[in-house]
Amino acid sequence: SKGNQGLGTWPRRRARISPDAEALTQGSRRLTYRQLADRVDRWASALQDLGITRGDRVAWLGANDIATFEAFFATGLLGAIFVPLNTRLAAVELRYLLDDCGASILITGAGVDHVVPELGEHVPVSSIELSTSLAEEPDVHLDEPALILYTSGTTGKPKGAVLTHGNLTWNTFNQLVHFDLTESERALCIAPLFHAVGLGQITLPTLLKGGRVEVVTKFDAGTILRLIDDESITSFSCVPTMLQLMTEHPAWAEADLSSLRHVIYGGSTINESVAKEWLNRGVRILQGYGMTEASPGVYMAIHDGAAEHRTSMGVPHFFTDVAHRAEDGQAIGIEYGGPGRELLIRGPHVFAGYWSHPRDDDGWFRTGDVVRTGADGWSYVVDRVKDVIISGGENISPAEVEAVLVDFDGVRSAAVVAAPDDRWGEVGVAFVELHPGVTVDVPALRRHLEANLARFKLPRDIHLVDELPRNATGKVLRARLRDELNREAP
Ligand code: ATP
Ligand code: MG
Repeated sequence: SKGNQGLGTWPRRRARISPDAEALTQGSRRLTYRQLADRVDRWASALQDLGITRGDRVAWLGANDIATFEAFFATGLLGAIFVPLNTRLAAVELRYLLDDCGASILITGAGVDHVVPELGEHVPVSSIELSTSLAEEPDVHLDEPALILYTSGTTGKPKGAVLTHGNLTWNTFNQLVHFDLTESERALCIAPLFHAVGLGQITLPTLLKGGRVEVVTKFDAGTILRLIDDESITSFSCVPTMLQLMTEHPAWAEADLSSLRHVIYGGSTINESVAKEWLNRGVRILQGYGMTEASPGVYMAIHDGAAEHRTSMGVPHFFTDVAHRAEDGQAIGIEYGGPGRELLIRGPHVFAGYWSHPRDDDGWFRTGDVVRTGADGWSYVVDRVKDVIISGGENISPAEVEAVLVDFDGVRSAAVVAAPDDRWGEVGVAFVELHPGVTVDVPALRRHLEANLARFKLPRDIHLVDELPRNATGKVLRARLRDELNREAP
């Protein structure tokens, strides 16, 4: 017997080293590692009483909470699989996910009362009784599933990525190669725990090293700015939208950010102006590139030269292998200085497959992202393969056009998508979101585009919109915009 190697044992392993250090805090609620280990043990026993055994799927729906961590570690201790669900989804979408993973139980936390009655049988977290401690525990090996994490659903329906204990452990190692996290780390868990960035990026590494994680129930820019100051927060990871909302908040200018050692953002590209705001405040913001399927880290821009390569996502993580996908589908070496191709990844942190359909590739996972690497080895996300617009045989990068649009005064955000066109096959059409209360002269915006882009890249139409459709991580739902255009087309 190899014993239990799973993530569920982390709290008690850490409690051997620093039992009285605070592990998780949430306002006035505070748990040391000893207390966390004890509660995880009793949580596991409670789950066992509810009939949960190895391999069962334990679905969780609720705002970020200390209890989310307790349930996650306890599920892992039993060799069962934790499935945190996106609290922003509608009942019908949630039912699809519950069916997809075949959940044995749904535990519900705070902030989901509006949707719970429509989901049928569920156990409110408040009714979980923690009494005895766990009598017997299975051996959990690193190659067993720990988590089913649904992808953001940016390009279609969310897919349930199965992440093993080993996947998340190796991602943690990858992060720790880059980050000198210590016991005195005070990380803010802002990103929702149903996305890989919430758990994997900085939270698990901080808990491995014995730092403290302050759990934030709900993202609110003002609250976060205050917490950073009050709790002397040293690090957090989030999506660019969150960084943008913080700079737009009235408390931004006065906020004391001096305790921050590193802030990691990823998931989509950041607006230049937002990045500059943070850098001007002396905060070290670092770009990461990752995806649910990779637990999630793939690239990180932390090492020497980050300042000179501001838009780069850096270099691959230590235990990550990368390749490019050639036209014939073969994996080929990264083409340094080339225009970019679909990125393929491999490594001990890359998932086993989707729950409903295991992987059938040759070991290289197709990221769906076009990535280019400069001659100096620094890499850049160009676009998603599916988003590239092919107009009269020329490839148009939506990201390139969007960067020019966002550069225009008053433009808050922009999305360029393909629209069917009789003459060119496809053309770009721009959707532009303005800062509240601002008006923009569209002909002037057009002239700005003409001055900065080749003719074939110019969007055929520019639609001003109040708000772009986004998912929970702030990613623009381009498919929805494309559908809109397709419906309009004769
Ligand atoms: P789905 O797979 O359901 O369509 P999704 O790919 O958005 O959704 P996630 O796993 O949350 O789901 O996101 C991973 C994707 O986010 C990457 O494949 C990439 O397209 C994008 N991304 C991640 N980091 C960056 C970054 N630094 N810059 C630009 N895009 C990024
Ligand atoms: Mg994806």
